[in-house]
Amino acid sequence: MAMTGTSTDYFELGPIRPPSEAFSLLIRVTRNCPWNRCKFCPIYKEAKFQLRSVDEIKQDIRTARAIQDKIKELAGKSGRGDSVREFAAMVCNNPPNDAYRNVALWMYAGGKHAFLQDANTLIMRTGELVEVIKFLKKTFPGINRITSYARSKTAARKSVAELVQLREAGLSRLHIGLESGYDPVLQLMDKGVTAAEHIVGGRNVVASGISLSEYVILGMGGRKMWREHALETARVLNEITPDFIRVRTMTINDRMPLHNDVESGIFIRETDDEIMAEERLLIENLECHSRFVSDHMINLLQEVEGDLPGDKEKMLAIISRFQELLPEERDNFKLGRRLGIYNRLDDLNDARRHEEVGQVMDRLGQDGGGDIDQVIFNLMARFI
Ligand code: SF4
Repeated sequence: MAMTGTSTDYFELGPIRPPSEAFSLLIRVTRNCPWNRCKFCPIYKEAKFQLRSVDEIKQDIRTARAIQDKIKELAGKSGRGDSVREFAAMVCNNPPNDAYRNVALWMYAGGKHAFLQDANTLIMRTGELVEVIKFLKKTFPGINRITSYARSKTAARKSVAELVQLREAGLSRLHIGLESGYDPVLQLMDKGVTAAEHIVGGRNVVASGISLSEYVILGMGGRKMWREHALETARVLNEITPDFIRVRTMTINDRMPLHNDVESGIFIRETDDEIMAEERLLIENLECHSRFVSDHMINLLQEVEGDLPGDKEKMLAIISRFQELLPEERDNFKLGRRLGIYNRLDDLNDARRHEEVGQVMDRLGQDGGGDIDQVIFNLMARFI
């Protein structure tokens, strides 16, 4: 059965959400980023930050509910009423608009999670955000997890009591871009926050009982500051003890202001081998009780995950396994990962895939394009 949306069957969606919220209902509570200056971030650069009114957000939530009801109704009429999930999957494949796609995907995944967009939801007045979260829960009683992005600086300015109000209203988790715990790196990247503010903001969230994900960018120190970046980031994370530490790998394209720093030599990128040495140093120095997660395909060794401190040796052993490969095997793996041929180190044992990557390497050598690290940088730029 084909679905046709009406002009009112649409609510506003922002551009991104974390990978862990891929199946969440997306509710846009603010537009874009109030800071918008980080050199490594291209996402909102052409867009102006705007708060949205509570009434406007509530109207979007009502529309999401209307779409959910419509999908259920059509599932019933199509004879699939007992399998709304199956019908939602069909809608995902051919939705009238992105709002339908989002609601259908969320229903398909069980309809339990919601994510509040855009970059810094905590900037809303606490009372207004509480009202939005309560309305969302009332409209969708089945939702049991509500998460959002926030900046450390804003979390540092909120009192723990305000954050507790948000948790009691239903805010389950905040995702904060820590990126680095080293002030010169934060300054170079124009992150607009200090390591000390990261600590205060992170601790406020932890003290409130809201679950906290802190994102770290491997490679953000570049060749000049990689060591301090790893050590100071570990120190700051140890002070915060977030529930999750999620790593990303520095990736640069020409839509980022940082690209100019690369061109001018101010920022010298680390190769994958150097980033693995950095990740090792970071993990060696982490003493906190946090879940270390590598939930982005841009990371070379996505299998480096575990619960700290217990899994530390297991995680370091994976990095050692990569570092102890012969140089040509390391190149084969790095290239295979970036080409999407390998997912994990064990895939090196697959003779067919190994041969496929070997053929690409041979061609690169013949074409004179044999600087494997530059080839990898170019391939990585496609992922963002
Ligand atoms: S605060 Fe976040 S969204 Fe805003 S510019 Fe920086 S990285 Fe991008």
